Amino acid sequence: MRILIVEDERKVARFLEHGLREELFTVDVAQDGEEGLYRAREFPYDLLILDVLLPKLDGLQVLRAYRASQGRARVLMLTARDTVDDRVAGLDAGADDYLVKPFAFAELLARVRALLRRDARDNVVHLEVHDLRLDLRTRKVHRGGQPITLSTREFGVLAYLMRHVGEVVTRTQLAEHVWEEQFDPHSNVIDVTVYHLREKLDRGFDGRLIQTIRGSGYQLAPPDPAAPRRA
Ligand code: CA
Repeated sequence: MRILIVEDERKVARFLEHGLREELFTVDVAQDGEEGLYRAREFPYDLLILDVLLPKLDGLQVLRAYRASQGRARVLMLTARDTVDDRVAGLDAGADDYLVKPFAFAELLARVRALLRRDARDNVVHLEVHDLRLDLRTRKVHRGGQPITLSTREFGVLAYLMRHVGEVVTRTQLAEHVWEEQFDPHSNVIDVTVYHLREKLDRGFDGRLIQTIRGSGYQLAPPDPAAPRRA
């Protein structure tokens, strides 16, 4: 799950960025409307957190332009003002939800989760493959009922592989969906992350869940022929 924060107040942006990373989201920050619109169009975000008062382009201009170019990520608007007109303008421009500053991080997180849940195909709340279970709401992973602690990247890679169970996923796909834009897809970071992820998932269990497909990428599949299921 990749999130773009468009916010010129550095303190607020940093606070959101750190908080969301702790919740294992992949997070980028843009500091003005132009940069925000560029990034939103360029990279596959699941959610934009968009401040209304921004330099260069304001949040409503960014949102209108983004929706006009078929941008489909969920959008949560932030504003210091709380008037009916502001809310209506935001929703008219294509926002999915609205949060008035100042707000508690817990409230933002609840909105973020609700929006991403709404967006998830078939309202999927957790993913299951064989004895592996990943909860998108609590962001917890279990294998055979035992909890597994993952880093942000490991969680992102695993969620992406589980959403594409049985398919070959390329390193480029993982780079685009799990890492920030500064990421160099030619580095060995993806391989290292998958190596650690495998160690954590397979330790003490029979059968590897993630296979390396030579020259292509990775595939997550049940170790036996039992059909994968989504719940
Ligand atoms: Ca602002």
